[in-house]
Amino acid sequence: MIITLKEKVEKKQIKEIEKKAKELGFSPEVSKGKEKTLILIKGENAILSREIFEAFDAVDFVTPISEPYKLVSKKWKARTIVDVDGIKVGGENIVFMAGPCSVEDMESTFAIARKVKELGATFLRGGAFKPRTSPYSFQGLGEDGLKILRDVSKETGLKTVTEAMDISQVELVEKYADVIQLGARNMQNFELLKACGRASKPILLKRGFSNTIKEFLMSAEYIASEGNNNIILCERGIRTFSDFTRFTLDVACVPVIKHQTHLPIIVDPSHPAGRRDLVEPLSLAAVAAGADGLIIEVHNSPEKAKSDGAQTINPEQFKTIVQKAVKLSEVLGRNI
Ligand code: PEP
Ligand code: MN
Repeated sequence: MIITLKEKVEKKQIKEIEKKAKELGFSPEVSKGKEKTLILIKGENAILSREIFEAFDAVDFVTPISEPYKLVSKKWKARTIVDVDGIKVGGENIVFMAGPCSVEDMESTFAIARKVKELGATFLRGGAFKPRTSPYSFQGLGEDGLKILRDVSKETGLKTVTEAMDISQVELVEKYADVIQLGARNMQNFELLKACGRASKPILLKRGFSNTIKEFLMSAEYIASEGNNNIILCERGIRTFSDFTRFTLDVACVPVIKHQTHLPIIVDPSHPAGRRDLVEPLSLAAVAAGADGLIIEVHNSPEKAKSDGAQTINPEQFKTIVQKAVKLSEVLGRNI
C-alpha cells in the first residue's frame, strides 16, 4: 500500500511512520516528491495494517496496491527515464538499439556500429554469450566479445547492450557493457534477476516467450526489490499458434505495460519476425503502440551472420525503419 502524507510534514513525523512500519516487519520506501511525500509499504499483507497508519497525524490517505508488483507499479511512480550516460530511454525521443545478433569479430562489429550510428542508433547490441537452442551452434565469443563491444563503444560513442546468461557472467558484463541484457529464456531465473538487481548498470529485461505480462512485471519487481530501478522492459514476441512468424509480437503488451508500470518499454521486432521482410512492419506497429524504442538485429552482410541471419536486416533497411519510425512518432506524438 502507499501512504500519502499531508503537505508540510516534518522529518520527525516521517521517521515515526518508518519506525512503526519496521516494527511491523516491513521495509518502507520513502519517496519525496516536489509536492507530496509517499511511503510504500510492500508485503502481501501490508494492507491489514492500514488503520495503524491512518491513525498518524501526518497521514493524508492510504491507497492499497492490489497488484502483486509494487515498486514497478504506476501507482508508486509516474515515470522512469533510464539514463544511460546521457542517453535517455523512456523520454521524449524513441531510441534505436541496433547491431548483430552475436558479436563475431572486431572488424565486422566496428563496421556495423559505425553504420548504425550514422543512421540514428545510439546503442550497439550484440551478444557475447549466446543462448542457442543447439549446443552445436555458435555460442558467442565470451569475454573476447565483451572486449570488442567495449572497444567499439569507445571509438564510436555508442552505448552497448549485451546479455548475461548466468549469475557468473553478470559482473563481467557489468564491467564491459553499459546495459545488461537479461534474455527471454532467463526471464524467470530468479537468482539471475536478483543478481541483476544488485548490479550497478541498467538492465534490459526481455519478456519470456511463454510468460504473461504479470509474470514479466513480477520479474522486473525482483530486480527492483534488490535496489536496481534502472530497468528497461523489452517485448520480443511470445509463442502462439501463428505459423508464419518465429514468435508473435504482442503489440498490446506495450500500452498495457505503460498503463501498469512506470518503466520504459522497448520492442525487439527481429525475434518475433524470424524473417527480415517483417522487421519493418513490426517496428512501425511497435512505435504506433507507443514503444520507447526498438532493438533491431542489423548486420552489414546478414547472409553471413553467425546467428539469426534470416531475421537480420542490412543498414539500408535499418535506415528506412529509422526514418519511418521517427516520422510516425512525430505524427502520433509521444504519450509519456
Ligand atoms: C537476442 O537478443 O539475440 C536474443 C537471444 O534474444 P531473446 O532472449 O529475446 O531470444
Ligand atoms: Mn538473436
